[in-house]
Amino acid sequence: MNFKNQNIRVYAGLFLSIFAFILMGYMSENETQVIAETALEDTTYVEIDTVPQNYYIANGVVRDSLLIYFGTVKVNQNLSEILLKFNVSYAEIDRIAKKSKDIFDVRKLVTGKNYLVFYTDDSLQKVESFIYEIDAANYVVYNLGDSLNIYRERKEVEVRIRVASGVINSSLWQTIVDNDIDFTLPMELSEIYAWAIDFYRIQKGDNFKVIYEEKYVDDKKIGMGKVIAAYFNHYGEDFYAIYFEQGDAADYFDENAKSLRRAFLKAPLKYSRISSKFSRRRYHPVQKRYKPHLGTDYAAPKGTPIMTTGDGVITKSGYSRGNGNYVKVKHNSVYSTQYLHMSKIKSGIRKGARVRQGDVIGYVGSTGLATGPHVCYRFWKNGAQVDALRVSVPPSLPVDKSYLEAYKKVKEEMTGKLDSMADPS
Ligand SMILES: [Zn+2]
Repeated sequence: MNFKNQNIRVYAGLFLSIFAFILMGYMSENETQVIAETALEDTTYVEIDTVPQNYYIANGVVRDSLLIYFGTVKVNQNLSEILLKFNVSYAEIDRIAKKSKDIFDVRKLVTGKNYLVFYTDDSLQKVESFIYEIDAANYVVYNLGDSLNIYRERKEVEVRIRVASGVINSSLWQTIVDNDIDFTLPMELSEIYAWAIDFYRIQKGDNFKVIYEEKYVDDKKIGMGKVIAAYFNHYGEDFYAIYFEQGDAADYFDENAKSLRRAFLKAPLKYSRISSKFSRRRYHPVQKRYKPHLGTDYAAPKGTPIMTTGDGVITKSGYSRGNGNYVKVKHNSVYSTQYLHMSKIKSGIRKGARVRQGDVIGYVGSTGLATGPHVCYRFWKNGAQVDALRVSVPPSLPVDKSYLEAYKKVKEEMTGKLDSMADPS
């Protein structure tokens, strides 16, 4: 890979981030609410009011009626420094450190992590338990006293189903974080709809509704789960996406049980033969020297129609000395394809035009650096040129027949829920 490609990748990444940011801006108009019914069998729902004030006391990890000190590990702070403040003796701290070795190395307290000290509500203020939180879910318990007891435990991760909806409008930079929507949701949506919607061209009036998971531990949000179902209205057209698992494969499907992803046509011509394959070092028949050939050549008679191998938008349509008449199609944020040496570009195939898979975009010729009539087919993935014959584009099969009944149920439940959500527009 060369530096130019890396730069392109960086720009593509940046662009997506900017998009995500913009969509978050759009979300400022939306409403979020927790819905009280579960959408999937393995999810649980807990009323916020029933979540206990302190997880460890409520769950019997430590005895009730103790006082609690909540702390955060400071830079270079160690266990001794924390516990000495609570009058735990050096000898006791040493005993804790030794016994803890195989369970959790106390020298590995991380700056910024939380800990809790539980002590008696009397003049002695004797420490009974110390709890260190390794992360949002994992913690270590130190029960002090004669029978020093140390163990690791994991809190239950609770999945809550949330809904969000919004309208794309002109006020992009309104309050972004106010709605407490997970930052990764726009990114998830752009991936789910990568083929169906050109996210670089979402327009004013487009709107969406989403049902998604949020993960909570001890009533604190620790991140986003998956998108369960979504609806996007783009240029007045409806796009549903329903998450469905069949066997061990999961994908997003539309209301007709078709995958939201698209595979590419194998070749841009119906009848053709490959005259030259993708190569990093090929003897150029016209220039008479070795140079990379970053495409696949399909030989065919002059005038043979050339098709776009996937849906997309024309980003280039013109002439250059090497390429001759050529067209470039951007399929989504990940894939682009290019078609060279055309005798003629089809009328209407100009920059910004939208094309569907199989649409004719031009005709075989030998313009530019070419010895005979052929189309040089080039394929980009994340900004880098790759071999179209080798690139692994995920299959885009519809829901399997044996799962159709099950899918129908899920689909009806989900589209029902989406449709019953207030219209964001
Ligand atoms: Zn070529």
